[in-house]
Order: sequence, then C-alpha cells, then structure tokens
Amino acid sequence: MYKKSFKSFLIPIIAALTFSTSFLGVNQSIEFKQEKSTNARKETDNGFKINFNNLLENYTTNLISLDISVNNGKIDNFYIKGGIINNSVKDEDSISLNISIEITDENAELTIDAIDIDGIERSDSIYFVKDDSNIFTSKTSLNQAKISVARDKLSKNLINNEEFKHYKELVYEKSLSNNLVTLKDSSNIKLDAQIKWEDLYSVEHPLAYTYVELQKRTYIGSSYDYPYFDQSVAYGYTDKNGQINFDYTNTDTLYDKFGYYIRVYAQGVNTKVVDNTEESVYYWNSEIANGLTNGELYYRPVIDMTTDLGKAFQVSQAIIYGAKYANVLNGGTDISDCTLILDDEGAYYMPSSREIHIDFLANEDGNYVTRPKGYEDWDVILHEYSHHIQNYFGNIDNSPGGSHYINTNNADDRVNGTPTSSNKINGINLAWGEGWATYNGQMIQDYFSDEISTVKYTCDSEYNASNGVQYSLLDYGYKGATPKGEANECAISQILYKLADSRTDEYDNFGYGDTFLWKLVKNNSIKTFSQFNTKLNNSVSEATMFKLGKLYARYSISPTNLVLSYGNFIDALPTFEWTGNGGSKYFSNDTFSLTFKNESNVTLFTQSSIKDTKYTLTKSQWDLVRNSPGNSYYVYIKGSANAYYSTGPYYSELFNFAKPTEFLTKYQITPADYGFWESYVTS
Ligand SMILES: [Zn+2]
Repeated sequence: MYKKSFKSFLIPIIAALTFSTSFLGVNQSIEFKQEKSTNARKETDNGFKINFNNLLENYTTNLISLDISVNNGKIDNFYIKGGIINNSVKDEDSISLNISIEITDENAELTIDAIDIDGIERSDSIYFVKDDSNIFTSKTSLNQAKISVARDKLSKNLINNEEFKHYKELVYEKSLSNNLVTLKDSSNIKLDAQIKWEDLYSVEHPLAYTYVELQKRTYIGSSYDYPYFDQSVAYGYTDKNGQINFDYTNTDTLYDKFGYYIRVYAQGVNTKVVDNTEESVYYWNSEIANGLTNGELYYRPVIDMTTDLGKAFQVSQAIIYGAKYANVLNGGTDISDCTLILDDEGAYYMPSSREIHIDFLANEDGNYVTRPKGYEDWDVILHEYSHHIQNYFGNIDNSPGGSHYINTNNADDRVNGTPTSSNKINGINLAWGEGWATYNGQMIQDYFSDEISTVKYTCDSEYNASNGVQYSLLDYGYKGATPKGEANECAISQILYKLADSRTDEYDNFGYGDTFLWKLVKNNSIKTFSQFNTKLNNSVSEATMFKLGKLYARYSISPTNLVLSYGNFIDALPTFEWTGNGGSKYFSNDTFSLTFKNESNVTLFTQSSIKDTKYTLTKSQWDLVRNSPGNSYYVYIKGSANAYYSTGPYYSELFNFAKPTEFLTKYQITPADYGFWESYVTS
C-alpha cells in the first residue's frame, strides 16, 4: 500500500549537542539540534566529516590526484598501503589536502587520520583495486571495489552473468570456514547441515530460519570441471538451531557426474538482505562434494563478521525475527515482504518500496566503544522493521515521516513562526509513529529472548544506535532531561515499554504484555498517544486510570503536584494549585477540571473549564467537601491541551487531603462576651 513516498528517517544524526553550563543545576537543559545526514558513518555528532571531493569510481591510470577536505576538524596524518604518495600539499589550517598517489599493488587503501573539533581522533579510508590498467575505488569496503571490477567486465561483455555471480561469491566467501564430511552408502543423497554465525566477540549463534538450497552440479563433459550447469534441487529453511536436512533422489540418467553443495541466502520466509549496488540477495555457497552418487553430507559452516556477506547474515537474522514477530501480531499469517539494503547512508524505511536501508558500516572502526556497529545494531534494524509493520497494517500510525529528534517535543520542532494545528497534529503523529517503532523493536527482542539474548545489544531494554542515540526504555526521559510530553518519541517508547513489561517501580505498576497493547492499538486504529490514552482508560478501572496518570506525569503528559496552597481552614475558601504539564512551549495542557470525592470514593462535584493551574473553591463547594463523611477527601485533575488541536484529557493521580481542623479567624472568648466578669480579678 502506498502511503508515504519519502524517506522516513530514524533519528538521522545529532549534529550539535549543547549542554547549558549548569548541567546538574536548576536550569538543566539539553538541546539537540538535528541535521539530516547522507552518511551517518562519516558525518558525526559534531558535524565532523572527511570529504573526498573529486574521487571517481574508476580511473584508467594508476596515478591519482585527490582533493580532500575536512568539516569541523583537522587533518592529522595520511598514509597508503599498496601504493606510494608522490606529492601532497596541506593548507595552513590542515583543513584541505591535495595528494597525488600511485597505486602499485593489486589492492590499496588510503587512510586519512583527523582530529575533530572535540579533539576526538577520526579516520576514513578509500579502497582501491587494480585490474590491468584500471583502478576501481570504493569508500565502503575493499569487497565493494572488487565487485566494481567484475561489474565493469560484465558491462563490457567480458564476462557473463554466471561468471559475475561466481566472482562475487569468491569475493564474499573468503572468510567462511566450512566443514564437509562425506559418509558412505545410502540409497539417496541425505544432507545434514547446521549453520552458525560467529559474532565479533567469538560467540557462535545458530543461523536460524534461513533459506537454504541444495544445489546439484551436473558435469556435461568427462571430468569434474567445466562445462557444467547448476540447479537447485531442494530448498527449505533452517530451524531455530540453524539445522536443515535434505533428502534427494537423483533420477538423472543423461549424465553420470554430479556434485552437491548448499547455498545459504541472507533471506527468511518474507525477508531478504541485498547489496546496495546489484540489489541481489547475499548468499554463500558451501564447498562442493563431487562424485557422490549416494551418501550423506554434513555441513558445519560458521559465518563470521569479517566480510560484507557475514554482516549481511547478522542483519538478516534481525529482520527474520522481526518478521516472525509480525506473524504473531498478525494472528499467524505472514505480513508483506521486506527488503533490507546494506547501504552507507544512515538508517531509514521506505514505505513505498518496503525497503529498510541500514548503514551497515556505521561505527565500523569502533571509535565509539559503547555503540554497536551498524550491522549489529538490532535496535535500529528492528525499529525500522517496525515501520514496515506499521506500513503493512496501515491503521496504526499516521506519521508524516521526515527528520526528527529523540528528545524534543516534535510538535514544537515543527513550529515556524505562529503555531498551527498541523504543527501539533504532525508532531503527535510523528512521536507516536517513532515511539511505537522503538517500543516494538524491543518487544521483538524480548519475545525471542530465549533464542537471541546471547547476541550483544539485544534484549537489554536499551535503545542503542550506532549514531550515538542511547537510552534505557526503563528510564524516565532521555539522559536525565525532563521528558517533553505526548509529542516526544522517547517518552512514548518508554511509556509503552513500561506498560508492557512486568517490571515495576514507584510509577510503573503495569505489566499488560505486548499482546494486550497490540490489540488495543490495532483494534482501535490508534495513531497518537492521546488516542491511546483514551482507549486504555476505557478498558481499565478508575483506580488504574489514576495510576496511569501518575506514570504519565513523569513524562510531562498529565497534570500533577496538586497542593492546597492557601486557605485550608474551616472558615476560609481553599485555593488548589497544580503543575499543568504537557512538555511543550505551545501545546501544553491549558484546560483543567478538578473532581472532588469523599473518603468513600463518591464524587462530590466536578469543577470544569479551568483555564489556569489554580482554583479557589466556592463556599458551597467547600461546604460539600467539609460536610462529607470522614476526615479526608480525594481530588484528581484532568488536563487537556486544547490550543490549535485538542488532545487529552489526561487524568492525574488521585490526591488525598485531610479535612481542615483549624479556623482562620481565632474567636477570642472575652469575659465581656460571656458576662462572667465577676469571676475575674479586676484591678
Ligand atoms: Zn523511525
């Protein structure tokens, strides 16, 4: 279904992070300015970037002159492997560099070291592959440059499609270990494979739910060599342990020489991972077993993370689990196909083509030790997959897409001059769409925690992105800053997570579980937090509504801090004051009601349409309260944000007050009043 034709960016990049001087003081404020990035890997929080200004995709000479410049930093050092630097001129400020290099080896890598404006060491590389007199380049990886060589040959008809594919396999296969054992007789070909992947920390995981083909190679000539043709003779999916078995009877009598191997795709039932140039699915071929007419094959390959192919398999695992969870949400039916493209342009989802783009090389150099690398960033990948779920169901978000910040009020962000209703509508839709996606990404991980919790950066209740956005879903706000209300995606994600998960704290008494919340959202076509609030309130008791109000107040959504600020006497009119909340400059709660209940929870009266955050009771209201049974009474607030576009009402928690026992006016009992003058001594 076509919904949005633009890129929906996940927190593209935080360009400037400024703390006020008193970070821990009263004026605590964290303000993030956000900027879209075309390259999350090389463009960082503080706008640092190394630009290779005149780099071509290929050169017909091995003498290359490059014009390099740096934004928000200085060039420190530069060097080349597999080549020679013939000449270099750096400007006085070390911001630009003209360099002439000569590529001498088959592969070369030019590295630029720099220091950014915050004093952090950075580096970036260009990869070169030499082929006869041509030099091919890539800013991504050596493998990409190698594939460019083959693609060039393909375009010149020097190789055919099949040869191009084989070349790609060779490039990608190098780091894969493979263990093949051939056992003796049985009546047909039985294949038993268990496929694993090994992460950066030497932990092995099964390659689960992954598409595998049994390939048969038929040799046409008299030897196990060209010419031959390959065909897929059986296929299936690995189980949760990465295991798959094939049982194949070869009935071919035309030829008598065959070989068998397995081909493993970075693909699930309705997911696939493709490269950003060919857009073909990543796959790996095992070693071939030739001359086997019957018997059993055992494959025990372990895919590591050193090549693009290995990384594709880890990314594939993430979206495969996303798709399995979507199937659960959808009552056991798969949702639409989703393609993940390994890219170098940040993370985003394209609804029209149902594509996730992931910058799989983000933080590749590991400069940011607490952040995942792009290809191990399950939180981001599953956030994007959750946008795919939103796109499929069609009625659970109305996000306008576009760039957004994690820790601001998304409605305020959109104001340019006079606030408008669409500023608010877009802001609350965006916050819901993004906040739900982050929440759901966590739910996917938690749902499959038995299978994936040993994968780093999963199942930890944290959103941790390779671009530096990092927070706990169990927290209140982003990195200690005051949350920004119903139009703040961080707040929405944290609220939903707390409501679903069974852990509790002072404000969170909830453990609704993901199924209950999903049905609430799906069945009611919820697209904003305000709608969610209304529907959830409709399905819980009033006592629970007040508990929810207490939780929401921690995110600046519902009113709180109700106090009797003046007049708590039998003979005075009391004034109540509260914090209105809303978390916005323009769209905060502006209309309130106060409801008073007696000690037995019976409503005494409601005063509505209060346009202030304080109210003084009338005499008749105060009399109702004072004359109610018991020694105390209850009050709650409802707050609505009505300016430009109405949201709410949001309930506060239920506040308890003791009835007054004192008089404001002290009535002096004088002798004159009573006439007992004769009992007093007079002078
Ligand atoms: Zn997003």
